Amino acid sequence: MPHSATSFTSKLPEVGTTIFTKMSALAGAFDAINLAQGFPEFDCAPGLQALVSKYMKLGKNQYAPMAGVSALREAITQKINTYNHCSYDPDLEITITSGATEALYVAISAVVRPGDEVIVFEPAYDSYVPAIRMSGGVPVYVTLDPRFQKIDWEQVSTRISTRTRAIIVNTPNNPSGYVWTREDLLQLDTLASRHDLIVISDEVYEHIIFDGRKHLSVSSVKSLAERSFICGSFGKTFHITGWKLGYCLATAAFMVEFRKIHQFMVFSVITPFQFAIAEFLNEPEHYLELSAFYQRKRDLFNDALKATGFDIRPTEGSFFQNAGYAGLSEENDLALAERLTREIGVASIPVSSFYAAPVSYKVLRFCFAKNDDTLLKAAERLGKISWQ
Ligand code: PMP
Ligand code: GLN
Repeated sequence: MPHSATSFTSKLPEVGTTIFTKMSALAGAFDAINLAQGFPEFDCAPGLQALVSKYMKLGKNQYAPMAGVSALREAITQKINTYNHCSYDPDLEITITSGATEALYVAISAVVRPGDEVIVFEPAYDSYVPAIRMSGGVPVYVTLDPRFQKIDWEQVSTRISTRTRAIIVNTPNNPSGYVWTREDLLQLDTLASRHDLIVISDEVYEHIIFDGRKHLSVSSVKSLAERSFICGSFGKTFHITGWKLGYCLATAAFMVEFRKIHQFMVFSVITPFQFAIAEFLNEPEHYLELSAFYQRKRDLFNDALKATGFDIRPTEGSFFQNAGYAGLSEENDLALAERLTREIGVASIPVSSFYAAPVSYKVLRFCFAKNDDTLLKAAERLGKISWQ
């Protein structure tokens, strides 16, 4: 018999189990192809696995420094110097975290005070709003179509008030795939400096970007970098989502506050894996080839989906493809995602779960970080949908 918790008042009454956990469980229960939760079906490089065991055998098995192993912080500095043309001091401005999830949570906790408003673009990744609420903040939404191709900066400026403290950016965006342009960064810079906003930028898909587009980090605009926390992850870049290793970049003054929280949340993160990634970063081809690798998969999957009737606009970045079905069915996206998992054996994510209020968009999100035969098999099954 479970114990009762009669006097326990939830701090997050509106939060349930995440849609990613739910859809993965449903996929498991019905033995469906899981294109729902975003994770690669393929393994990470054997060379990277060998490096983990090398550093374990070298005895790198005790606590890492609180800010992270210095070899890894230095390797990140080198990488962003070369590719983002900006510089962060490895000792003062970089912290290694337990995935981007921790980096985002800590940055939000460091910034948001009770009553502060935070601008959140919808569709939004699910971890931002609970973190804002845990700090007593208030999310203020800029609501966009799930397949938006442009940011409505008019709408953004109308959402800013004297209580606005921060704004959350996600480029490339999960789930829309939208990739921020230089113009977007300049608009953000103007608004952020006019209203003295802090920027929290989620850039976990920085290396998965298509059709010749370039990732423009918030750190590439100096005045923005000075007011930003940039959160990254190695999970997507090296096919290691289960390692939960990420990092945060911010100016030294911001990083002091970030580390005050990080040190009491996890203190430090897994040591031999940090050494392994530090050494692996010496081979840039692993991340430089990632966009081409995923673009081919995106195109293969989209071609195979042509026969299904879904409305497909090729995603600009991330490993997610959205598929519209307005005109084919009146069914809501959650009901359809669940039915497809049960009846045809393909799991997806209903994009309405990236919105705070109920929405009626008819769009499913499919993860294409899968083997080619899995993608082809899923598309073939999706061709057999009986629309209701
Ligand atoms: N941000 C976005 C947009 C994501 O899709 C994810 C999910 N993987 C994360 C953050 C979390 O990254 P990590 O697994 O490194 O915590
Ligand atoms: N980022 C992954 C996605 O969007 C999910 C990660 C998680 O399950 N929390 O599918």
